[in-house]
Amino acid sequence: MQNLSDKRTLLLSVDLDMWYHCRWATGGPKSMWHTTESAIQALYGDAGPARIEKDLAELTDRILELLRSFEFTATFFVLGEIARCYPNVIKRIISEGHEIASHGMHHEDASRLDDAGLRASVGDSKKILEDISGQPVQGFRYPNLVFTKRELAALVDHGFRYDSSTCFSRRMFGKFGVKDRMIQNPYHPDIDRPFCQGESEIWEFPIPVFPVLRLPAGSGIATRLMGVSWSKFALDAALRTGDTLYYFHPFDLHRVKGLGRTSLNAYFFLQNAGAPFERQLTRLFRYYAKRGNVMCIRDWLRDRERSS
Ligand SMILES: [Zn+2]
Repeated sequence: MQNLSDKRTLLLSVDLDMWYHCRWATGGPKSMWHTTESAIQALYGDAGPARIEKDLAELTDRILELLRSFEFTATFFVLGEIARCYPNVIKRIISEGHEIASHGMHHEDASRLDDAGLRASVGDSKKILEDISGQPVQGFRYPNLVFTKRELAALVDHGFRYDSSTCFSRRMFGKFGVKDRMIQNPYHPDIDRPFCQGESEIWEFPIPVFPVLRLPAGSGIATRLMGVSWSKFALDAALRTGDTLYYFHPFDLHRVKGLGRTSLNAYFFLQNAGAPFERQLTRLFRYYAKRGNVMCIRDWLRDRERSS
């Protein structure tokens, strides 16, 4: 990479949800289970809740350890339902200096919620996270990146400072496919056309896509399916025009036994999870630690305020 100056930043984020929140499992129109409880019960039976608590704590610790070793901060987009059940995990994340943002109340497509349900998901998750953290929650990412102007308006109404739910991918899985010109770097959206630059005060942090292919690129899932070289290629391309973003999940670092047999989707979307992904992520971190800044969105906004 030749053109990445010291000022270019890779924004790091973690969606704090588990394998049963994946769209093939729950929360989407074609999901295998209707609720998180039924997904957990199907795989683990009555031992499920204790098992999930242990897995989440261990995986979060692994992520925190990795971030600590690189001295990176990250934004953790936390589901309200996770925060309510496991507040100590959230407190541990905060104690290490990372940012807590909201990922909604439950992990379902916002298009499945009516207006009151959407407001409740946005407002309730913000309140739960602020009560636990004692800090203002500034950012939001919609589950499954299902996002339109209605979803943006709900964030403006609740005083959010930024969103990170846009992805200029081609249409796939019944989502994405906006026709507006692709944007790979942070921007202020038009309130009525959130995929276009506008005059609003809220920030939008898009998930970068692969050049030409126009498939989602800035995620742990893409790294696992396409390989770490392709992730670097896509992130470097986005970094040529500005700062960009990468996100991953605790379940990327976890090989869940027995899940691959439950469906073709589970088999496909959990490819290379566990130790193989941890190695890929470490390589990616090492690469960007040498080349630019890596930080959470809160710190990026703070630096920007200071310099303006
Ligand atoms: Zn998620």
